[in-house]
Amino acid sequence: MLDRRTRRAGVGKTPHERLIFHVDMDAFFASVEVMCRPKLRGLPVIVCGKPTTRSVVAAASYPARKYGIRSGMSTVEAFNLCPHAVPVEGNPGQYIYVSLELLRIYKEFSTIVEPYSIDEAFIEMTGTEWTWDNCEEGARQIKECMRERFPDLTASIGVGPNKLIAKMCSGFQKPDGVSIVRPGEFTKVFGDLPVSKIWGVGNKTAVALSLMGVTRIHELAEFPVAMLRRRFGIVGEILHMMAAGRDDTPVTPYYEGMPVKSMGHEHTLPADTWDIAEAEKVLLRLSDQVARRMRKKEYLGNVISMRLRFSDFESVGRQKKIEFYTDEERVIYRVARDLMHRHWKQGRSIRLVGVHCSGLVKIPDVMQIDLFGQSEEDAHRKLLAVVDSIRDKYGEHAITRARLVSHDARIWGAPRRVSEPRFQRMSVGTVDPTAGMGWSPMSRWHDASGNVDNKPLNSSISTSPFDMLRWQDQDDRGRSGGS
Ligand SMILES: [Mg+2]
Repeated sequence: MLDRRTRRAGVGKTPHERLIFHVDMDAFFASVEVMCRPKLRGLPVIVCGKPTTRSVVAAASYPARKYGIRSGMSTVEAFNLCPHAVPVEGNPGQYIYVSLELLRIYKEFSTIVEPYSIDEAFIEMTGTEWTWDNCEEGARQIKECMRERFPDLTASIGVGPNKLIAKMCSGFQKPDGVSIVRPGEFTKVFGDLPVSKIWGVGNKTAVALSLMGVTRIHELAEFPVAMLRRRFGIVGEILHMMAAGRDDTPVTPYYEGMPVKSMGHEHTLPADTWDIAEAEKVLLRLSDQVARRMRKKEYLGNVISMRLRFSDFESVGRQKKIEFYTDEERVIYRVARDLMHRHWKQGRSIRLVGVHCSGLVKIPDVMQIDLFGQSEEDAHRKLLAVVDSIRDKYGEHAITRARLVSHDARIWGAPRRVSEPRFQRMSVGTVDPTAGMGWSPMSRWHDASGNVDNKPLNSSISTSPFDMLRWQDQDDRGRSGGS
């Protein structure tokens, strides 16, 4: 075990001295489902939302991938490709448990482990017994430990002198592979690949680069950085650095606290809709979920983003910075609704609605902001506290806005019948009537799925160091009207 002095071993070293592993689980959700239900072994399993509702594929087992099924595809499309695919409803609690167990395994190899997503992690191997000479053996041993604990799970491991290279090469040999790119080998290995293969570079940025005559990674590395800066701002410099395989971001141990950058939820509607009022209700429910998570985690945010995907799979994403920090669904909803109205054209049918809040700060840092000083705010916050406590005790569907009662039953699977209401209808005098009609008790019903937050599978907490690139890409997508 390493002592505290070696925990920051990788920081400040030259790329030649650093050794980073990136572990990426193979078909993670699907593999966990197969592990829990061995009968599914060898079958084309797709993990999705409730099988009775329309949703997207969250993960596909390797037998399903042979038919061309990929994550992010609609389940309808997946069944067209493979009619005998086996749909399995995702179980986020299970995946989180396995993910935490995997982190325990990584920590046996290094004390500096950064979970990048539920199925990916960076391990700082610099300063451990593992060096460039025996790194392959190190990767094999991690896989061996994993196999002992979870026999059905496999991982692909990328080894590089920084996070960028480790991340880019972990996908080289999937499934169950180990790929090593040594210091100085980046251009030789990646130089001829398209720029879209750079971690964080999306299609829109790739198109913008191609208009500048840059299509390959080595061309981007050789391109004048001043011109990139002129076109992309600070992101241009990051692109130039990445194309040369340079990245000095540290591996941040998760127990030191991951800076959460945004919280959001997205939802695919059971059927495409032309009715903006219907989409508004989904947006309100999502805003409510986002705000509740923020309150639970004690965050406030001041950048609100809205995302729509249309029936032709074009997407539009827009964000707005507000002048104060909030964790209230009525504020998030109002801003997101405004963005939605501005960027939805009549006649375009909506397939997916999403809302995110970023620019997050922990509540104690900004308590001095005159956020709760006004009596109206006080009253509303008391109302929110009561609503939160009811949901904590009786489940997420125990209470909802009156405007969403029938909607929740239809869209989110909440019980339609109001049985044995336990709560008095509350006074909602301070709630903006345009923001959705106050709260109403629904039932004593607990979330039967065990999914306490009833989070859609594609909910997200973003902690990526390359968010700037992502936003750039999203902005591009917005400007050009979708990807
Ligand atoms: Mg993976």
